[in-house]
Amino acid sequence: MSQKTNHRREKLSAGCQKPAAAGTNLTGMSDMTVFAKGQAELVEVRPGVHAWVQPDGSWWLNNAGAVTIGTAQLVIDTCATATRARRFLEALGEATGMTPKLAVNTHQHGDHTYGNSLLPGTTVLIGQEKMREGLRVDPIIDGCPPFWSPVPDWGDVERRLPDVTVDDALTVHLGDRRVELRHPGGPAHTTGDLIAWVPHERVLFTGDLVFSGLTPLVFMGSVPGALAAIDWLAGFGPEVLVPGHGPVLTGDDIGRVLDEHRRYYRLVLQAGADGITRGRSALDAARAVDLGEFAGWADAERVVLNLHRYYADHHGTELDLIAAFSDAVTYHGGPLTTHV
Ligand SMILES: [Zn+2]
Repeated sequence: MSQKTNHRREKLSAGCQKPAAAGTNLTGMSDMTVFAKGQAELVEVRPGVHAWVQPDGSWWLNNAGAVTIGTAQLVIDTCATATRARRFLEALGEATGMTPKLAVNTHQHGDHTYGNSLLPGTTVLIGQEKMREGLRVDPIIDGCPPFWSPVPDWGDVERRLPDVTVDDALTVHLGDRRVELRHPGGPAHTTGDLIAWVPHERVLFTGDLVFSGLTPLVFMGSVPGALAAIDWLAGFGPEVLVPGHGPVLTGDDIGRVLDEHRRYYRLVLQAGADGITRGRSALDAARAVDLGEFAGWADAERVVLNLHRYYADHHGTELDLIAAFSDAVTYHGGPLTTHV
């Protein structure tokens, strides 16, 4: 018990500016040695509000989190593999001594949901209506196609769908605190996105509406919708922003990263419009893009997937996932890189 107390205090004092240093404080806890290896880290960004940050945030390496108030806990997302989901939930249990009463998925993607079945059976799982349907029919949980190398192995996960669905908004009450679950109003990263806003602590869990320092991905959502969602997120006025991938953001870094998203989405919109005008395929339109300031971001090949979304919406057709990923692999020069 004393270890838990010390752990909690160390995380509090470390804040969220230096998560690496916070991890290295966790000496003498064998089950936490993962932190020392820099693989993943539980950061208490505000009292009772944790972010689970998995470097380097590239394909399948998501962030998750939790809000713990009194005797109530809400988990926000799980992880792609059974091993990673267990690691997160065990670290959270060590830090808080709690079993989650509630959990929410920010969207349907497997890096945020495949570990749902590792949550206790008594945990009530919440998701947006379209998110639930998306995960229900997701074929990738049954076996990952060879678009990535190495091909991810999810381990002993089972498809677990939300028990409670939300259309636009739901407020979760944890003791005397609120956590507001909100849908951006239309397609953005996917069609079933939810954010979790903790107003008292001014912490915003954005799911994959924000990729911090990595290439954004909107192929299952909307390019203009994702752009509009950035203004919507800024309107919450967060002091701490936990993105779906990449480092936790505070202070001026929040506005900086949101501006980067605006510029990136505008670049994709321009490239899509140019590609249509010139009669180019989505792949050729992507090859014609000068990524400029974004060229150094991980997973740059997502420009191909994002342009496939632009093209599908322009033509009023369904996005062809196989064709889109095949083009991304061609652009990348081989299977996409993952460290999951
Ligand atoms: Zn996602």
